[in-house]
Amino acid sequence: MIAVLFGPPGSGKGTQSAFLRRDFDLTHVSTGDMLRAEAATGSPLGLEVAPLMAAGKLVPDDLIVRVIAERLGHDDVGTGVVLDGFPRTVAQARALDAMLEDRGQDVGLILSLDVPVDDLVERLLGRAREQGRVDDTAEVIRERMHEYQRKTAPVLDHYRASGARVASVDGVGSVEDVRRRIRAEVAGALSAPRRQSTRRVADGS
Ligand code: ADP
Repeated sequence: MIAVLFGPPGSGKGTQSAFLRRDFDLTHVSTGDMLRAEAATGSPLGLEVAPLMAAGKLVPDDLIVRVIAERLGHDDVGTGVVLDGFPRTVAQARALDAMLEDRGQDVGLILSLDVPVDDLVERLLGRAREQGRVDDTAEVIRERMHEYQRKTAPVLDHYRASGARVASVDGVGSVEDVRRRIRAEVAGALSAPRRQSTRRVADGS
């Protein structure tokens, strides 16, 4: 199962991905974590992405698609993957779809975490106080929200239009509440017939 955990900055994707890993034995692939690790080691890739990340801008699609293609080639992705922070643009979603199609796979579930914007800003500012992430200042948070609205939110429409299974999950409440809601959606998706058949009906082929 390839699951995408989708949502605005601060919606809890990282926290809930860790639970998905434990609850369903999925490999957690976080593009944010991967890019931060590159930036910390000062690799050529890290040097290229660090200023963009610090400004709250997305890194270029072709760059992140290469990173993901490489990562999805590793052996540990066999049992299933939860993608966290990718795809973040419609172009990335199309690249992912093509990558998976080549392997006879598709995105089995998109979990979309819904959290009101005021709560998001509050959470991110709280995280800034605790962890000191460079992109958690008020100004950069505003830019990240803007990037999300402009470039990332349309990814959901892309998947809805393609007939993929999209589940909206209320992301407000305790971490355990949200975990339970997500667990129910994943369990539902795992027991449902694969979407290939619905797609064929929709295509009329
Ligand atoms: P967030 O808390 O905003 O969800 P992440 O840890 O997922 O943060 O990502 C942090 C930063 O890494 C983003 O603001 C962006 O600069 C970069 N980034 C991560 N994933 C992608 C992606 N798929 N496409 C472009 N940029 C990305």
